[in-house]
Amino acid sequence: MKNLLGGKGANLAQMAKLGLPVPPGFTISTEICTYFYRHNQSYPPGFEKEIKKYLALVEKEKGQKFGDLKNPLLFSVRSGARVSMPGMMDTVLNLGLNDQITKTLAQKNPRFAWNCYWRFIFMFADVVMGAPKEELDEVLIALKKEKNLKQDIELSAADWQVVAERLKTKVRHLTGKEIPQNPWDQLWQAIGAVFKSWNTPRAITYRKLNKIPDDWGTAVNVQSMVFGNLNEKSASGVGFTRNPSTGKKELYGEFLPNAQGEDVVAGLRTPKPISELKKIFPSCYRELLKISKILEQYFKDMQDIEFTIENGKLWMLQTRTGKRTAQAAVKMALDMVKEGLISKKEALLRIDPKTIETFFKPSFEEKAKKEVLAKGLPASPGAAVGEVVFDPGEAEKLVDQGHQVILVRMETSPDDIHGMAAAEGILTARGGMTSHAALVSRAMGKPCVVGAESIYVDYQKQQMMVNEKIIKKGDFISLNGTAGEVYLGKLKTQPPQISKDLNQILKWADQKRKLKVLANADTPLQARQARDFGAQGIGLCRTEHMFFAEERLPIFQKMILAKDQKERALALKKILPLQKSDFIEIFKAMEGWPVIIRLLDPPLHEFLPKTEKEIKELSAKIKVPFLKLKTKVESLAELNPMLGHRGLRLAITFPEIYEMQTQAIIEAALDCKKRKIKVIPEIMIPLTLDVEEFKIVAQKVREKAEQILKNKKLKIDYKIGTMIELPRACLLADQIAREAEFFSFGTNDLTQTTLGISRDDAGRFLPQYLEKKIFKEDPFSSLDRSGVGELIEIGVKRGKKSRKDLEIGICGEHGGDPSSIDFCHRAGLDYVSCSPFRVPVARLSAAQANLTSPLRKN
Ligand code: PEP
Ligand code: MG
Repeated sequence: MKNLLGGKGANLAQMAKLGLPVPPGFTISTEICTYFYRHNQSYPPGFEKEIKKYLALVEKEKGQKFGDLKNPLLFSVRSGARVSMPGMMDTVLNLGLNDQITKTLAQKNPRFAWNCYWRFIFMFADVVMGAPKEELDEVLIALKKEKNLKQDIELSAADWQVVAERLKTKVRHLTGKEIPQNPWDQLWQAIGAVFKSWNTPRAITYRKLNKIPDDWGTAVNVQSMVFGNLNEKSASGVGFTRNPSTGKKELYGEFLPNAQGEDVVAGLRTPKPISELKKIFPSCYRELLKISKILEQYFKDMQDIEFTIENGKLWMLQTRTGKRTAQAAVKMALDMVKEGLISKKEALLRIDPKTIETFFKPSFEEKAKKEVLAKGLPASPGAAVGEVVFDPGEAEKLVDQGHQVILVRMETSPDDIHGMAAAEGILTARGGMTSHAALVSRAMGKPCVVGAESIYVDYQKQQMMVNEKIIKKGDFISLNGTAGEVYLGKLKTQPPQISKDLNQILKWADQKRKLKVLANADTPLQARQARDFGAQGIGLCRTEHMFFAEERLPIFQKMILAKDQKERALALKKILPLQKSDFIEIFKAMEGWPVIIRLLDPPLHEFLPKTEKEIKELSAKIKVPFLKLKTKVESLAELNPMLGHRGLRLAITFPEIYEMQTQAIIEAALDCKKRKIKVIPEIMIPLTLDVEEFKIVAQKVREKAEQILKNKKLKIDYKIGTMIELPRACLLADQIAREAEFFSFGTNDLTQTTLGISRDDAGRFLPQYLEKKIFKEDPFSSLDRSGVGELIEIGVKRGKKSRKDLEIGICGEHGGDPSSIDFCHRAGLDYVSCSPFRVPVARLSAAQANLTSPLRKN
């Protein structure tokens, strides 16, 4: 019932049902929140009466009374949306205290009573009355200074009374209002404040980052308090039923003796590891282990729990599915299948394919010389290098300007998420594995080190002190989130490898998918990488990328500048052996798998310099007169470069280029055949818009291939197909398929031509389109289903009509995007092709697509 009760409320109810120790309480549903916003921030009729009814039930169950002097019932009022938004919305604890009740409570346990009252005033003033937190913080800081105390725990009962009373006065000064003394007023206002916290700027940012709809609303959990700060036999803690960083099966987390829950996550005191609970509260520890098991058995997943020990008794305050690193997600899914907790199918569906990319984050070279600057906790794995920045807003700004930054804070708070999202990595001086910084970084898949206690950040001076060293804003550091270490300077990183666990998951995925996964690879190195990652061939080898190497480009430029066919032929002759040797290496790397090679596509001016300075440099380098070069550059200039003289249009005017490329492919294939390397070359012609055009170019290609084979008296199987990149080609797919032996949707171009948005210029205005929700997602990264998608469906249907066994794939960027892959599966494509690092992502996505919508047999 998460939609109605929010995640927290639904799971509290579930824990109570399972017979676990949960403090009594009730949940106000998300429906009330949506009503609240639709009706000018008011409640449905009878709402107040309903609340009072449930309040009375809790009073009965607890044997206490709300507002009573002798035996007062206190509440926590907490938000809870459908999905957890850690720290984004507001909470008020210890609600129900006032001057009189506190004084009465203080007769028995003064330190506890005044400490709770101070907390209540603080939270109520912050959340409900909108007083600035930093101002509220000042009161405690000032008293600690006066008394020369470091930790909150050192404050006496009398100190807390002073702090509470001073804080009350300060609230009056800050807001011009009194903290309400009537508990019912407190409750009523707190409920409204929690609803309002759904629309704070930070909550809105979080929703945007995590694609959470604005109209879901939050529930409000009104729950009786249990006190981790009651005495030395009390504590508050948070934990995970398995290690969220590594996935290891162990109760993992931390706690603080004599503290309330907020203290643990706020990162103000560094808490103790949960293993120490075993020593201090052995029976609670045992019970917690038992409860963890029950929760995992019920929820069939790793849980993130909050608990409180009140005077030696354990209480469960929350459970939810825990956030985890991609590494942990994979390990847990594997282990849970082995434990019989979940099926293979569930394991495959549980891993977010996008997070798999984080497996391929680089790590620091083992042998790199490291100067360890500081050590902390390994909160989120990976390696990050960047300039030190202390301010989240500045981090965002610098990243916009092209810098790489590491955000360093004493601790992070929900207000910092924009800076965290921009940074390469996050480093905090305080906090534990469940601190805000740790949770958010893990969710974002960013390297993070927390609790590096030797660091002190001086925000005013914009520098940090680490022991004797001073690190200034802009200095470079390297962050190792796997080891929890911080190094001085820029360390070298090394490319990643596939882990054993991930391999196992991917093998299962391979058994469940229908779509083949090929790779876009242009060099032998990429081809080998793609094979390592499980690619079943190359779906797109962009031959132009072979010309970009520094020593090759000048030869290609000479070819472009040739004054006649003879000169061009001469230049092409020089390129031929280079292309051929590349193809041989690629075929070798892809032995036995198809290799789809696309003939030259981009317009020729892409290979020439643009500015006068560049033209001068080139003219000296390749020894072509400046003026000649400049004239050529000008004659090739295009207004919209990606819609001009490119693709097979080049071959209509300069057939020699494709002939040379065909020769290189066929000769390379023959060479491999001689060496008994099995090759399956497929020659792909880009940007076809008409069957006649394709016919002319394909015929030339075929003639060239046949001529070589005839001369050598040898045979080889090869195919000639086309990319489908223009709406017209989709519509005329039946005609084109009569000539082309295969199709590959080039959705980068198909998107730009369908939307009429140039792929090179989109960046200037697309962000606005996303912000204004004209597009839900960037159509160049996630397929525009309604427009481009429909054209693809038409292309598939019409293409297959003329050629039943037409092989159809996709090789645009979308081939590595999980939701586009799902579409390709449903549209009946044979394969997706994507960059080597996304091959594993695609393998899993293809399996998920098939598991959630198996194809109809036809
Ligand atoms: C495409 O257009 O989708 C494609 C793969 O080709 P390119 O990106 O090289 O234009
Ligand atoms: Mg293209």
